Amino acid sequence: MNSKSTTVIPLSEVGRARPAVSVPETAVPATGSLLDRLGRPLTDLRISVTDRCNFRCSYCMPKDVFDKDYQYLPHSALLSFEEMTRLARLFASHGVRKIRLTGGEPLLRKNIEGLIEQLSELRTPAGEPLALTLTTNGSLLQRKAAALRAAGLQRVTVSLDSLDDAVFRHMNDVDFPVADVLAGIDAALAAGLGPLKVNMVVKRGTNEQEILPMARYFRDNHGGKVVLRFIEYMDVGATNGWRMDEVLPSAEVIARIGAEFPLVPLEPSAPGETAQRWAYADGGGEIGVISSVTQAFCHDCSRARLSTEGKLYLCLFASAGHDLRPLLRGTATDEDIASAIGHIWQGRADRYSELRALRGPDSAESDGNDNNKAPRRVEMSYIGG
Ligand code: SF4
Repeated sequence: MNSKSTTVIPLSEVGRARPAVSVPETAVPATGSLLDRLGRPLTDLRISVTDRCNFRCSYCMPKDVFDKDYQYLPHSALLSFEEMTRLARLFASHGVRKIRLTGGEPLLRKNIEGLIEQLSELRTPAGEPLALTLTTNGSLLQRKAAALRAAGLQRVTVSLDSLDDAVFRHMNDVDFPVADVLAGIDAALAAGLGPLKVNMVVKRGTNEQEILPMARYFRDNHGGKVVLRFIEYMDVGATNGWRMDEVLPSAEVIARIGAEFPLVPLEPSAPGETAQRWAYADGGGEIGVISSVTQAFCHDCSRARLSTEGKLYLCLFASAGHDLRPLLRGTATDEDIASAIGHIWQGRADRYSELRALRGPDSAESDGNDNNKAPRRVEMSYIGG
């Protein structure tokens, strides 16, 4: 047995190291209304509960990079459910009222129902329960839907990029059938995990021909109970080989659907909502588009992301996180950690999508710091979409 312990630094985290997070000298009290440097509140926390996934979607976890030799985080590096819940409670004290569990594929994390039970006990400073949602590729949903609901989960978002089995198997790159994901969606609705959202990443030249079949299917089968959202293909991370000419702008998606099913725009359902909402004029339900590339929405982005091992990211396109784990596993009090989180958020100025639109991709850090040209962005599979 080789005694020298090897530290695993996953590819997904090979970014710019930040100094260790310390407790700020001037405490930042938890007032429930924290704002960043651009006046944006902290209302949404996305917690990545695993860096593993059973799919290899080329726009997120390409197989040639995340291959059989890829080194995932050792279990000891992962935050425990108690640590995640402690952090979630402290984020709630700063104003977070919605938690989304992500990954990798969150349903791969053993006994995730246990985490959901703990999180469902949390309350906002006003005593309200937090909104608890989860994003999944749907592969395990049929089996787990009822238990997730019983544990306290309220809603799920399912990623599904095509109804055509060959196209879907090509995009998830593990030969997984569409039928099992559709069965998972049915099971989630039957379990009461709704209204349910389905996210389709649209890649020009790969699955754009699936836009209308997807719209027809969810209108005809789940009109009103499923909101189908079309996501512009994004330059997340540093491994998906993103090219602008493979982006199909949301305006084109709306035009294609509108030509068959007239649409009317809807108001956002909450501040900071990522999707632009459209209703079918005939009452057949709702769709949405998430247009990070052609219509940036950083101006009211209120989302923080926690990696599986406790690093706080302030933007999906950031290249480095703030490591909270040493504070969690040290002698810091709740007040200390809450103050550190508050201090980090108050210093936030991230707006990568706006900068990409102004200066082009890879032009600067997500926070506009252009000392570090072409920073290596963190992988989406590591901090969740
Ligand atoms: S690019 Fe960053 S700041 Fe802008 S909306 Fe996305 S996560 Fe928020």
